[in-house]
Amino acid sequence: MSTLIKFKKLLLDILFPSVCVNCKKDFSDEKQNNLLCQDCLKKIAINTTLFCGQCQARLPENKKICHKNFPYLLGAATNFNDPIRNLIHQFKYRHWKRAELPIADIIKIYLGNLKLTSRQIKNWTVLPVPLHKNRERNRGFNQAELIGKIIAANLKLPIRGDLLLRIKETKNQAELKDWQQRKNNVKDAFQVTDPKTIQGKNILLVDDVYTSGATINEAIRLLKESGARKIIAMVVAKAR
Ligand SMILES: [Zn+2]
Ligand SMILES: [Zn+2]
Repeated sequence: MSTLIKFKKLLLDILFPSVCVNCKKDFSDEKQNNLLCQDCLKKIAINTTLFCGQCQARLPENKKICHKNFPYLLGAATNFNDPIRNLIHQFKYRHWKRAELPIADIIKIYLGNLKLTSRQIKNWTVLPVPLHKNRERNRGFNQAELIGKIIAANLKLPIRGDLLLRIKETKNQAELKDWQQRKNNVKDAFQVTDPKTIQGKNILLVDDVYTSGATINEAIRLLKESGARKIIAMVVAKAR
């Protein structure tokens, strides 16, 4: 390690000591730049199936068994409880680099659990749910894109961050409690830049969490209008 890197690391350790966000244990001796200790990571219940987008029934073998006309299947690595809730908060608003590591671990385990066959993921493209350019500039990154990259790398799929744009500066969905408000908030929020490229494609739409589903529903409505074939919405955690 160069002196500069050593110094940077020392500084980071002082500013952000390696303390688990969940159990507060100091784990400087474990994996560096992590936010969740291995014990807490092991306690997270990671799902083993995809879910029906409408009723959230588990779908063994990744096949639709109910609500066959619903436009998408839902993939969620885990549920939106602590320590995941805390981890995702850290990821979005504070130490994203250090939260990325346990999130990548969780996604990797989930994708392994799904046992997707090469036939099942043939012709799929990963699309992150976009942020409005002003919000992305303020935050410095799009968390859905970081998660999308993890998924794309694991499944060896292409990722396209340029096909879907957020053209409306929406309010934070978490601040809106009512389902209708959330739906109105994201109405016409997205734009497909190149419908020809979307046409006939299978899309893996990626976001950090799935709560009311309003944002994802709106993006998928547009992707379907542009001729997307099958769609899976994939998130780190779902709330319901
Ligand atoms: Zn812990
Ligand atoms: Zn269903």
